[in-house]
Amino acid sequence: MKKYFITGGCGFIGSNFIHYLTENKLADQIINLDKMTYAGNIGNLNGIENNKNYHFIDGDICRKTIVRDILDKYNPDVLIHFAAESHVDRSIDGPSEFVQTNVVGTLTLLNEANQWLKRNKKYLLENFRFIHISTDEVYGSLGRKGKFKENTAYDPSSPYSASKAGSDHLVRSWYRTYNFPAIITNCSNNYGPYQFPEKLIPLMIINCLQEKSLPVYGEGINVRDWLYVRDHCEAIQTVASKGQLGETYNIGGNNEIKNIEIVEIICDLLDQKLPSKKGRSYKKLIKFVKDRPGHDFRYAIDATKIKNTLGWVPKENFETGINKTIEWYLANESWWDAIHKKTYQQERLGIIK
Ligand code: NAD
Repeated sequence: MKKYFITGGCGFIGSNFIHYLTENKLADQIINLDKMTYAGNIGNLNGIENNKNYHFIDGDICRKTIVRDILDKYNPDVLIHFAAESHVDRSIDGPSEFVQTNVVGTLTLLNEANQWLKRNKKYLLENFRFIHISTDEVYGSLGRKGKFKENTAYDPSSPYSASKAGSDHLVRSWYRTYNFPAIITNCSNNYGPYQFPEKLIPLMIINCLQEKSLPVYGEGINVRDWLYVRDHCEAIQTVASKGQLGETYNIGGNNEIKNIEIVEIICDLLDQKLPSKKGRSYKKLIKFVKDRPGHDFRYAIDATKIKNTLGWVPKENFETGINKTIEWYLANESWWDAIHKKTYQQERLGIIK
């Protein structure tokens, strides 16, 4: 049982991780620092906010004093760093915010945590660890063959992945230079409950339910390696408890699927679960639209290292995970409807005019 300092805990993966910790009684205390951007949603943590061991701080990871005060006040055992600007299309329209949060924010956390450790030497001995949550997108694009390994050279294509690559480099350098106790994880595309509806899978589910067109970028042949978010949470917890300091772990679901296939699977499942009132397959809503600039062709993760050294393997395959996900969005219309009313109306982003 430990004290967890979580950044970005009101976002998609961070909130799933907090649910995972509380359901499995893995934490003594959880401190959640989140700036509540458009992607932060207090509704992601319903049922947790009144827990006496949960502390929410509405603030920015770029603010040194906030980070310092949390470290001094709570003396966490582990810091799990999720907070980020995370949507590639938004990074094309407004890259500065990505550099600010993803690079400068990570730098602020590293600096403050390193100085806090120096002030409190005992925490080094008690195995404080900083887990940096990153993406496979830092490795760039694959052709038809091969997979990303931990030693694949970085080759990011978008402002988002470039800013995440920058943050990974900073974390690695803090370990090498200051002996700062950090571990990096690079994960493939996640899906599951509480994912902001701008991302492919929730966007397609919700657009089907609203009988809106299903925009597929380019020819829909780009391949992603999909991982159910709860599996990612278990992998992060495994790394936090058993991972080797200074190491990088790739995390993936071994589920390589083309974007168009994802959309068709969602349509087929919804045709069975909740047929269209218009008496036609949801596939009729598919519309091919202008491709994303710099769209990486294929991502695929080689997750052998985390399997062989830490014993983690995903529990869900794509069939079980997508079924759970669709059921969740069907059962939680009020959750996504509130987002549509408040912050996001399914507009197309990331087009260079
Ligand atoms: P998200 O966009 O859903 O959530 C990000 C959260 O961070 C939000 O709650 C937001 O309010 C908060 N935040 C943003 N800027 C902040 C700041 N300056 N200070 C404090 N909080 C701030 O993102 P996500 O999909 O949950 O991703 C979480 C992490 O996992 C990110 O670092 C992302 O790069 C990484 N990741 C995501 C995926 C994926 O498929 N979603 C895959 C691999 C890695």
